[in-house]
Amino acid sequence: MMPVNRADETIFAVASGAGRAAICVLRVSGPRSRALLEHLCGTCPPARRASVRTLHDDAGEALDQALVLWLPGPASYTGEDCAELHLHGGRGVVDGVADALAALGARPAEPGEFTRRAFLNGRMDLVEAEAIADLVDAETASQRRQALRQLSGALGELYSGWSMRLTVLMAQQEALIDFPDEDLPPDVEGALMAELGVILTEVEGHLADDRRGERLREGIVIAVGGPPNVGKSSLINILARRDVAIVSPFPGTTRDVLEARVVFGGVPVTLLDTAGIRASTDPIEGDGVRRAVARIAEADLVLLVADASAGSVWLESDALPTAGAVLRVVNKIDLAPALPGAIAVSAVTGHGLEALRAELDAAVRRLVERDGPPPLTRARHRAALSEVAVELRGAIMEGLAELRAERLRLATRALGRVTGQIDVEDVLDVVFSRFCIGK
Ligand code: GDP
Repeated sequence: MMPVNRADETIFAVASGAGRAAICVLRVSGPRSRALLEHLCGTCPPARRASVRTLHDDAGEALDQALVLWLPGPASYTGEDCAELHLHGGRGVVDGVADALAALGARPAEPGEFTRRAFLNGRMDLVEAEAIADLVDAETASQRRQALRQLSGALGELYSGWSMRLTVLMAQQEALIDFPDEDLPPDVEGALMAELGVILTEVEGHLADDRRGERLREGIVIAVGGPPNVGKSSLINILARRDVAIVSPFPGTTRDVLEARVVFGGVPVTLLDTAGIRASTDPIEGDGVRRAVARIAEADLVLLVADASAGSVWLESDALPTAGAVLRVVNKIDLAPALPGAIAVSAVTGHGLEALRAELDAAVRRLVERDGPPPLTRARHRAALSEVAVELRGAIMEGLAELRAERLRLATRALGRVTGQIDVEDVLDVVFSRFCIGK
């Protein structure tokens, strides 16, 4: 739980990564930033210029020779007076400077507190703040691109655009209620209803994106399924380029769901090796099978493997309750001819594995890519926008002007929660508690 944000408090935190490093960036924000720099450096260095200074504690003991930046507000990350100390990375150095800052009245920052202050000072909207968190977490180039696009304001503009248009409609609706007999332009109501329909269509289109943006942000899940002993574990080991799964000639060895993290098509992917799916009398294996079926049901894509040497033993995908797409692979083509309609591979000779990787890259890209406006990236946005769509549909169906106006207000408020324009306090904790300290 985030404490009440006290803007009169000066906060500090290590902004660079954990572990031993050459340089450690310590960030300071708040009204006492300048005074703290004067204490540590003797004088405040020039604004926005990198200066090398020897830092001293209050007793006059030297703490480090550091690169120091004085970043006066409001043109700073948080909008407040800020400082950055690029220290040498040793624990003794960093702890010494942190102790000196605390002795001078600054306090360690909470997770996300710098970005929270940036939001409260109007430096960014909530959607941009979330993009910062995504950039900090980005594992692949595609995730980075999506987060940068969101940070540039493209997604926020889409939402604030709808918000502005809804506000106009709300004003028109109020005018229709308050001045029914006045000389309003002809057919204000008709135009209002038409525009309502257009906005609803746009919001619905944004929602019906098959979770592409969320999939890219969160990574996708590929379940590798099929009968026992067809070579699922062998293929996963090859795809993951390391030994994650247990490969064994005895059917039913994989009793649990094993995972490997890989990247296909620029998207982080979790590969699931599912227990050989078959009826089993062994209670432990039976449990594994149940879990396997459940994970497959949730997977974005199923890689269905068959054994060429076992005849055409496909486990039919209707036997697997999966919502995701299915890619068929026939393994062990070194032993028998391939089956039609599947990617032919051999985990032993390596035949067809590059083609399989290329197919996986393409299939994953199809799951996340879409042209046009920026995609929806978070469940939080999806929940609020679904509410917007419900209220807009309600407004269109509503015969009473007053009730329609209320529906429009509710839709606008739900939209405002996404970017943080209205009704924000209760969503702030949710958004900023997911940050790491120093951001
Ligand atoms: P899983 O039960 O589906 O995970 O299958 P495994 O990966 O454990 O493989 C079962 C057996 O088939 C092991 O003895 C593997 O060495 C063997 N195997 C896997 N792939 C191939 C292949 O392409 N060709 C041949 N000849 N044997 C394979």
